[in-house]
Amino acid sequence: MAEKQQTILRTQNLQAFYVLEMQGAQKIVKAVNEVNLQVYENEIYGIAGESGCGKTTLLKTLFNEIAPPLRLIEGKLYYRINDAEVDVTGMSADEKRRLRMEYISYIPQGSMSVFNPVQRIRGTFQDFIGSHVSGKNREQVFELAHRRVLELGLPRNVLDTYPHQLSGGMRQRVTIALASVLNPRIMIGDEPTTALDVVVQRGVIQMLKEIQRSLKNTIIMVTHDMGVHANIADRIGIMYAGKIVEEGTTEQIFANPSHPYTQFLINSLPKFGDKSMRDSVPGSPPSLADVPKGCPFHPRCPHARDICRQQMPDLTRLNDDHKVACWLVGGQDG
Ligand code: SF4
Repeated sequence: MAEKQQTILRTQNLQAFYVLEMQGAQKIVKAVNEVNLQVYENEIYGIAGESGCGKTTLLKTLFNEIAPPLRLIEGKLYYRINDAEVDVTGMSADEKRRLRMEYISYIPQGSMSVFNPVQRIRGTFQDFIGSHVSGKNREQVFELAHRRVLELGLPRNVLDTYPHQLSGGMRQRVTIALASVLNPRIMIGDEPTTALDVVVQRGVIQMLKEIQRSLKNTIIMVTHDMGVHANIADRIGIMYAGKIVEEGTTEQIFANPSHPYTQFLINSLPKFGDKSMRDSVPGSPPSLADVPKGCPFHPRCPHARDICRQQMPDLTRLNDDHKVACWLVGGQDG
């Protein structure tokens, strides 16, 4: 991200909760809890955190896909469309459907769910294009799809194969090609490199970067793998218990991790030539149905003090891009 870009997606106190009935009582699972994000045009924004911290729910909410048992309890979600900021939280199902794929697309976890196992890949592309593009333009868009497949280095005959004939890595690359075919302004990726070996993972990362560079669009990508973020993201948001607790450029997050949780995530990464045991985050993440009072990291934090157990610190700006929610930093030290 060479220069400051225009905001393409913004959230304001976004909250997405699951409301579950359990043994006659209601349980509120606070998966996304007052998240304020500002994502720019022409950047790759990474969201990191352990399993169960709310990352996937945040992505679904950003994709404006709120369906029971998930509920948007409060907050706003804005997309920048035709130079105007549009509140998309109140859109009708039809309006949302139109925006999806043409304006914003989703790369789900596990590529198999995208394909019909008894249909050739070509059929999936045709169905997809057919449901989004009017009759006279379909041929043209299908031609574009064919070109995109070749540009992205996929084999010429991939469209004639069945999903089970492709390796996991190849299927994932086809899924990404499909998500990019209508040139969306925003692409959302839910762990697109998980379960792939490192060589294949590298190819998928390269492909995402190439698509972003050629479309000059925005990719918002979730993965728990900090190594992947280091390779692909321009900026990173660290998520813990439904909240963003640190945000910065990739350089800032890796060179100066300022939240104790981020420090654990970075320190747990292997270092070349260092065979010593790495520190992992102590303890386990909290249940989102029972988030600790105050800073939710306090039961695992070696620096916790009284105020941490009572009050959640606000995200405080360390400098232009770098923000942290911790009582120890940014002049919040109580
Ligand atoms: Fe640790 Fe307190 Fe900072 Fe939370 S606010 S991360 S408990 S020092």
